[in-house]
Amino acid sequence: MGAQRAVQAHEGALTSHDASSGRPSESPRLELDLTVVAQSFRIFERSLPHVEPAYAVKANPLPEVLSLLAGLGASVDLASVGELDACLMAGFEPGRMSWGNPVKKPSDVRAAVAAGVTRFTTDSAGDVDLLAREAPGASVTVRLAVGDNGSATPFAGKFGVAPDEAATLLRRARDARLRAHGLGFHPGSQQADPSSWRRGIAACRAAAEGFGGPIGELNLGGGFPTVHAAGPVPGLREIAAAIDAELGDWRPHLVAEPGRALVADAGVLVAEVVLVTERAGRRWVYLDVGRYQGLAETEGEMIVYRLHCPGHRPDAAVGPVVLAGPTCDGDDVLYRRADVRLPLDLAPGDVVEFLGAGAYTSSYASVGFNGLPPLPTVLVNPPTPERTPD
Ligand SMILES: *Cc1c(COP(=O)(O)O)cnc(C)c1O
Repeated sequence: MGAQRAVQAHEGALTSHDASSGRPSESPRLELDLTVVAQSFRIFERSLPHVEPAYAVKANPLPEVLSLLAGLGASVDLASVGELDACLMAGFEPGRMSWGNPVKKPSDVRAAVAAGVTRFTTDSAGDVDLLAREAPGASVTVRLAVGDNGSATPFAGKFGVAPDEAATLLRRARDARLRAHGLGFHPGSQQADPSSWRRGIAACRAAAEGFGGPIGELNLGGGFPTVHAAGPVPGLREIAAAIDAELGDWRPHLVAEPGRALVADAGVLVAEVVLVTERAGRRWVYLDVGRYQGLAETEGEMIVYRLHCPGHRPDAAVGPVVLAGPTCDGDDVLYRRADVRLPLDLAPGDVVEFLGAGAYTSSYASVGFNGLPPLPTVLVNPPTPERTPD
């Protein structure tokens, strides 16, 4: 629904505002509709009404996105000093910030404390000890590892601990005079299986029982999926129902860290065909955007975007393609295995749009691989005060 709106915005009122160095006609570019971000935020709030929504900044750290969400009352989940500074600039109060990255330097923690941040996520003894030294009295949430089957981009063991280890870390935090306050998990990004949240909550409950002390906060992580080519994903209400069912009468303060769910639908990545050619019996289409200008999530073909060719009739004859990026790198091929079909008469100069591309695109673009600049963002439909009430 949101992506549809963003496409309409593109076809209708493009060029109203230039968010970075992007000129409106420049290709490739990310066209971002802030009204869709606002709408996605409200849908999230309505679907999970008892949950504090803390935007995961890395999904799209554009200053305009951050100040919009700050104005709408969101909290934020931070991972670095750069994100901390961007959020302060955007107007987030330190009380609405939490530092979700369990891998930190002493200088990170010092900067967060100096800014007034008091909530941190941890998942190791070394990090608990660091927090005890640099952030005395801070609130600590211990992150559990949950099976991330069903996730398009799983963490595969990079973060989190088992319930018994989580209980041990909470005790370690309490003994170090930190506030051993929370438990949490992240079920893996683009998570298509609502029962992943149930497994995460069950693991947190086991950790809480092992700990014995009161648990004030439960962090449900991110992972809320958006629509891509892979077909239907569960809606937020279905996930909310799974969460409620698993919580039963357990009533800690709930936090979630949506990234993708708040910004993906707001973005259309507009690219251009550079070359079409035949290689070993397959039709190769080379675009002016690839893995290194923002399409990092095509790695392993994890995310297969919906594509739209605005210059072609919807009923144009299509055929399978290998879709490749413009650089001289052999890995810069977006889709070889995925069933991607594009118009048979596609030619250099034609526009190809990646729908639902507002998350994890501009923030992943390299600074200049092969001399190609990072993906510029162009705002379409800039919100007026009337359009974004409260
Ligand atoms: C990236 C990240 C998120 C956001 O994940 P989405 O799948 O985009 O919702 C939330 N929490 C943490 C700790 C993250 O690293």
